[in-house]
Amino acid sequence: MSKPEHAIVVGAGVIGLLTTLNLASAGIKVTLIDRQQAGKEASWAGGGIVSPLYPWRYSPAVTALAHWSQDFYPQLGDHLFGRTGIDPQVHVTGLYWLDLDDEARALTWANEQSRPLSKVAINEVYRKVPVLGPGFAEAVYMANVANVRNPRLVKALRAALEATPGVQLLEHCAVQGFVQHQARVCGVRTEAGEILGDEVVLTAGAWSGELLATLGLALPVEPVKGQMILFKCSEDFLPAMVLARTRYAIPRRDGHILVGSTLEHAGFDKTPTEDALASLRASAQDLLPALREAQVIAHWAGLRPGSPEGIPFIGPVHSHPGLWLNCGHYRNGLVLAPASCQLLADLMLGRAPIVEPAPYAPPF
Ligand SMILES: Cc1cc2nc3c(=O)[nH]c(=O)nc-3n(C[C@H](O)[C@H](O)[C@H](O)COP(=O)(O)OP(=O)(O)OC[C@H]3O[C@@H](n4cnc5c(N)ncnc54)[C@H](O)[C@@H]3O)c2cc1C
Repeated sequence: MSKPEHAIVVGAGVIGLLTTLNLASAGIKVTLIDRQQAGKEASWAGGGIVSPLYPWRYSPAVTALAHWSQDFYPQLGDHLFGRTGIDPQVHVTGLYWLDLDDEARALTWANEQSRPLSKVAINEVYRKVPVLGPGFAEAVYMANVANVRNPRLVKALRAALEATPGVQLLEHCAVQGFVQHQARVCGVRTEAGEILGDEVVLTAGAWSGELLATLGLALPVEPVKGQMILFKCSEDFLPAMVLARTRYAIPRRDGHILVGSTLEHAGFDKTPTEDALASLRASAQDLLPALREAQVIAHWAGLRPGSPEGIPFIGPVHSHPGLWLNCGHYRNGLVLAPASCQLLADLMLGRAPIVEPAPYAPPF
């Protein structure tokens, strides 16, 4: 396959930003388009845990991308900090899972995958995390799990792109459909007119299905709303991430604590609700009773790009040559981004792919 000269990337979340960086680093001219400011949708709204919430419940396809990315994240954080002065804060805190109902499966998976997840005595957890709420009986722990400060990650990626030759970032420019010429996709239609290139990559997160529908393609990617709340505590309040009954608390380095999240099928509505606020507050207090006295300083919602089993679509759309997908990362787009964007670039450039690409192949 010959290297494209000019690629158009549609959607500037973490996936579009990193796809652009990878392609531009290989010498390709890239036009990255977003209908608003870059990085303000799910990639801003997420919690930033650099792991699937329950990694043992995912298919090998998700695990392969997660493991490659997890190993790469510290390097990515350092690289972006060095290049832009913006620190995405890849914060390795470890993660405690409390009172799992599939603990044995988790331990077996960790053993098979050689991941450092192990059983911990509950007394030990209370000693390490004295603010943990009462009543938990069992725990497993993985020491090397990090969280990334995702709003800073997207800011750093945007800054890196601004300093990369050959990249044009078009913000506040909505893509309305695709331009085709002699059975090839060769550009996009926007509010500002047509933009033409050799290849088009769709990285529009939860909106990817809508855009593909303009070509008559039905991609199973749909919005799944998630709400989060934020507290500000002292820097040493919570030393590790904790997770129980699908709800989790994430400490940032400066003492901000994020508690999430809801999982709602509400179309493209992103309004934060009072019900979710009450439910997240209750979970926060179960996990960390001291938060009863703390003020919720922010509450927001984002739209995850839901896909079957959370397996992203990465690769060429064979029915429409010239069009590529990198979308549908569901609950794990932040952790899966480095591997997904590397794989996409490998496929577009004809390089040996970092992982076997078949499980992510678009269905058309
Ligand atoms: C509450 C919550 C918690 C989460 N926690 C985690 C976590 O802890 N760890 C993790 O790995 N993942 C987490 N996620 C998931 C993660 O945030 C997403 O999977 C990831 O951000 C998806 O990235 P994306 O770039 O595909 O989509 P987005 O960030 O949504 O970006 C898509 C972009 O496309 C643009 N766009 C859409 N339509 C058009 C159009 N027509 N024209 C031009 N531009 C368009 C949008 O404006 C947007 O900027 C969480 C998500 C939520 C909501």
